[in-house]
Parts: sequence; C-alpha cells; structure tokens
Amino acid sequence: SGSPNNAPLFTVNSPNVVYTDDEIKSQYVYHTNEVTRTADNQFVVNPKATTYHFKVDRKVGKVGMMLVGWGGNNGSTVTAGIIANRRGLVWETREGKRAANYYGSVVMSSTVKLGTDSKTSEEVNVPFHDMLPMVHPNDLVIGGWDISAMNLADAMDRAQVLEPSLKQLVRKEMAEMKPLPSIYYPDFIAANQEDRADNIIDGSKASWAHVEHIRKDIRDFKTQNGLDKVIVLWTANTERYADIVPGVNDTAENLLNAIKSGHEEVSPSTVFAVASILENTPFINGSPQNTFVPGAIDFAEKQGAFIGGDDFKSGQTKMKSALVDFLINAGIKLTSIASYNHLGNNDGKNLSSQKQFRSKEISKSNVVDDMVAANQILYEKDEHPNHTVVIKYMPAVGDNKRALDEYYAEIFMGGHQTISLFNICEDSLLASPLIIDLVVIAELMTRITWKADGAEAYKSFHSVLSVLSYMLKAPLTPPGTPVVNALGKQRNALTNIFRACVGLQPESEMTLEHKLF
Ligand code: NAD
Repeated sequence: SGSPNNAPLFTVNSPNVVYTDDEIKSQYVYHTNEVTRTADNQFVVNPKATTYHFKVDRKVGKVGMMLVGWGGNNGSTVTAGIIANRRGLVWETREGKRAANYYGSVVMSSTVKLGTDSKTSEEVNVPFHDMLPMVHPNDLVIGGWDISAMNLADAMDRAQVLEPSLKQLVRKEMAEMKPLPSIYYPDFIAANQEDRADNIIDGSKASWAHVEHIRKDIRDFKTQNGLDKVIVLWTANTERYADIVPGVNDTAENLLNAIKSGHEEVSPSTVFAVASILENTPFINGSPQNTFVPGAIDFAEKQGAFIGGDDFKSGQTKMKSALVDFLINAGIKLTSIASYNHLGNNDGKNLSSQKQFRSKEISKSNVVDDMVAANQILYEKDEHPNHTVVIKYMPAVGDNKRALDEYYAEIFMGGHQTISLFNICEDSLLASPLIIDLVVIAELMTRITWKADGAEAYKSFHSVLSVLSYMLKAPLTPPGTPVVNALGKQRNALTNIFRACVGLQPESEMTLEHKLF
C-alpha cells in the first residue's frame, strides 16, 4: 500500500525548499501583525515578518497505534475499518455492494489546493495525505488495552456498528486480537461498567507499578512488531474529572509522587499519559476528562514528549463549530443553543452517570467562546449566548446517536431566526476516522522540527499538539495560549503549517489572477 516514502506527488521549485533523500527543508517567512493602541484609543498595526526554518524527516518507518479501550465501539470499529481498507474489501449490503474507504478522515479523504494549472488555469488539488510524507493508515500495526477481555471479533459484535457481511470477512483476523489487561480504578468510570471489567491488572488505585507495567506493554509491542514508533490514544470510557489538588497533581514532581504514594485523585488515563510520556510516545486523549492535569502537562513539557486532547469532535460539536462560526461571521447574533443527545451504546450507558456526564458537559460547553469573544459588535465583553447540553441514554438506538440542536438568533431590526438540526449518525463511524487522523498527524509531528533564523539546532514543536484541534472538542493548547474552536481556522492552521514545511504561503483565496486582467 501507498507509494514509497521518498516519491512525493509534488515538489516545490523554490530556492527556499531543499529536498534530500532523508529530509525536506524549507525557509519560511511568517507574517503577523502586531497591534498597539494609542492614547486616544486608536489602533496602529505593525506588520512583522519572522523567518523560520522547517525540517521534515522523510523516513516514516513502521508505526504502531495502541488504543486504550481497544475493545470498545470505537476501538473495534477503527480496527475493522483499517483491516477492510488494507485488504480492499467489498461486501454486500441491502443497498448493494460497499467498498472500504476512509470517508470522514481529513488526512485520507480531503484535498488541499496546491495552485493553478499553468495551461488550463484550473485549480490543482492534492490529497491531504500527499502534502508531506505521512504513514498510511493501512500500514498501522494495531494493539492496545481493555478492561474487558473480549477478543476484537466479539467486541465488534457487541458494538453493533458494522454490517454482518463485512464482519464475516474480518472476523477471523479480529478473533486473534486480544486486548492487554488494563488498569481499572472503579471510582473514575460509571458503576454500570463493572460487569465488563474482567481483564484487569492488580490494584485499584494509581501506583508506580502500574506506570511500569504500561511502559513495558508499549516497549514489548514495539519489539514484537519491529516498530520504529508507537502512538497511544485513549478511547476508553469517559472518566470523571480528577480534582486538582495543590501538592498532588499541580506539578510534574507532585504528580509523580502522588502516583508513587497511591493517591486516589490520579485517574487511569493520567497513569497512561505518564507512562507514554516516559516512553517518549505521543499520547492523545479522545475523551473529555481532565487527563492532562497541570502536573501531566508540566511533565510532558519537561520530557519533551507530545500530548494532545481532549475529546473527539465528531458530530454535534463539529457542526456547532462550523455553524456558529458562519452565523457570527455573517453578523447574526446567536442568542441560544439548545443541544439534546440520546444514544444507546456503552458510551451512553457510562454517561448516564452524573460525574461522567459532567466531564462531557464541560467539554461540550466552551466550544463557541472564541467566536463570540471575537465580535464586540454583537456581544458585550463577557456576554455569552445561552447554551445547554443534555445527554440521555436510550438503549434502543444503539450506536445511532441522535443529536437535536436548536440555534436561536437575533437578526435585523429585532427579528429572529431559528435553525433546527437533527443529526443521526453511527457515532463510532464518525469517531474512527478521527482516531486515524489524530494518529497520523501526531506521528508526522514527531518528524517535523524547526529553528529560528540564525539558530544552530532544530527543535520540536511545543509538547502540547494544538495542531490537532480540528479533531478535538476541547482542544488542549500550550499553557497560556488561546484556544481556537472555529472549525475553519483550525483546518487552516493544520494545512498552512504543513504548507510552510514545503515553503508554500497560506492559500489566501484572493484569486487575483481571475480578477486583475
Ligand atoms: P465504549 O464504551 O464502547 O468503549 C470504551 C472501552 O473502554 C470499553 O471497551 C471499556 O471496557 C474500556 N475501558 C474502560 N476503562 C478502561 C481502562 N481504564 N483501560 C482500558 N480500557 C478501558 O465507548 P466508545 O463509543 O468507543 O467511546 C470511547 C470514548 O470516546 C468515550 O469516552 C466517548 O465519550 C469518547 N468519544 C466518542 C465519540 C464518538 O463519536 N464515538 C466522540 C467523542 C468522544
């Protein structure tokens, strides 16, 4: 699968870009505008240009993906999906034949504008995946942990997501896949999950032995499969929030000591994060809880390891971060959002417990803040639209989550606009491609380094991979830096950073070539 690493679909013909067998090096001038305020409250804009050098290691190597919660709906669905793509499977459905694809993956199924054809003046667009050397998802070696011992074939049945005809084709291979035992601290997930916890490592609160156990699992997986790199991703149950306690999880040192002394406020996901950081393995959190307590972020920064989170942005919130961006940028004053969900999968069952629901409520709540704050014509300082999120467990609908949203807005001269959305999707079919994107991009980020003009050594991006924001509901950003939720901005950041790595300016959409002639 895929083309050889060293044969790119395009090359950039510029003195600022150098290709060698092993690297792509670019010199890039980054333009920003610094704004100052005069005494009489006027703005003065000072355009600034900063030169950066980027270097991309072209050797992708062999990559492993380890999922925490591998036997869940997302874990089993993404595994079956990758196997189906790898084998080019086609299966019968009542609507005819269906073939494996990567729809819903930005990396695999979206394109980026490269430029204009010199002869036809038509746009030339290339697959996102061909922007830079990236691992092909078909080549990912998959493994992971689950507190449920069920093999992946049975887990796929339990999930009730995929067509029987497709399951038939992947069943044999998936029956051989068995999740590693995991750590289970009952206090962190809903009590209704207890009956599936039959694959657990001894001990019901954090311990250093647990950290070492998970580290060894990562190392063993690497050696057994001859991997160059592993990415660990949490797609296990939503945990309750951990209390932030001074002296316990506020600094790296305190967090490590808290784990060693078995403090009750350290969650399983934080233990996985710490183990991954120690293995210099990128760790991504696909659930809403505060895995990345301040001490965990501090530790990642100190170790120079990559972390990313929180909470996959799959359905309702993705719509929200596109629609609200549109409304507010259209000059329409959004005054309320009412979001109702009901779902019947195990995620819904877990979220029917108040503390776990609370984690989800928090991550779903702040997603329009930056767009509102950017428009001081429509909103006073600190004014917010009303925003309510409801989630109910309804077993009958299974993985076919329902999301009902009402957007209520004020328009010209005191009029009103009401937009109602009814969104129905198999939740795990939305989340699976996001898992792939998060893993592929996190892996790529391990091979991109940069330096300021004149500096000697190249270094990595900041430990907190905010470049993953497009895929995440509550994007984690480096401490003290702003969170961007607007979907369009998030995608621009993603594509433009990768464009810079091949010396290309951001796509300005001005198309002056079609206007000035
Ligand atoms: P799921 O309940 O089907 O799967 C979770 C799996 O995690 C289960 O198999 C469970 O046994 C396992 N698990 C629980 N605690 C564990 C631990 N400590 N170690 C290892 N395994 C553990 O849920 P899902 O539908 O696959 O969703 C997974 C997570 O992703 C949830 O937190 C959900 O909120 C989040 N999420 C999902 C979506 C989506 O669209 N599907 C979107 C955003 C976030």
